[in-house]
Amino acid sequence: MTDSGRAVTIANRIAAISQQLPPQTRLVAVTKKVSIASMRQAYQAGIRNFGESRIQELEEKQAELEDLRDVTWHFIGHLQRNKAKQAVELCEWIHSVDSLALAHRLNRLAADRPQRPKICLQVKILDDPSKYGWSATGLKAELSEFLQCKNLDIQGLMTILPLGLSEAQQLAAFEQTRILSEQLTQQTDKVLNLKELSMGMSGDYQLAIQAGATLVRVGRLIFGER
Ligand SMILES: *Cc1c(COP(=O)(O)O)cnc(C)c1O
Repeated sequence: MTDSGRAVTIANRIAAISQQLPPQTRLVAVTKKVSIASMRQAYQAGIRNFGESRIQELEEKQAELEDLRDVTWHFIGHLQRNKAKQAVELCEWIHSVDSLALAHRLNRLAADRPQRPKICLQVKILDDPSKYGWSATGLKAELSEFLQCKNLDIQGLMTILPLGLSEAQQLAAFEQTRILSEQLTQQTDKVLNLKELSMGMSGDYQLAIQAGATLVRVGRLIFGER
């Protein structure tokens, strides 16, 4: 495909997805393995939120796209402890906080930062040994610990569904995630207000929106197969 042909395709795909978003839902364009040229085309088409799953790649791209001043960077992958400092320095959002140890570490690192990082707690709403994050009961049990993390701006929950579910099961799992966020908010008497729901990818974002997603993370459907 020519460069301009690809730009049109990317713009059309972004427009098609954006049309379906309710006002409270933001589209995070997932740009892992996507070229800088395609990212610029996405920006031209209105994207202001980029999501990356590796710190090294995010750092390189951020440097190359430094001229795009109003971009918000989201980290969405599993964060290794030796990358936590960079994550806090480079990203406004970290969607994938998946352990208490990581939360405490980010909290310490964020003490020196001008802005508190916005974070989501990653939950496995259905059991899935291949994924990181808390079970619903595990998160309920540890929730009070987050009240101590004053340097983190805890915004909500993030989830990735296991493969192989029916649409009805996907919708039910997203709805369970929303209900869990409401229960957790109640549990802290609203000291933690878990209002953001980062859920939905290329294959299931419409169901996630139906269940109340506020951040959808879409890659392939915008940029094509990786
Ligand atoms: C890659 C990725 C996405 C986007 O997936 P697509 O299928 O390309 O839309 C969303 N969330 C996370 C955590 C990812 O790693």
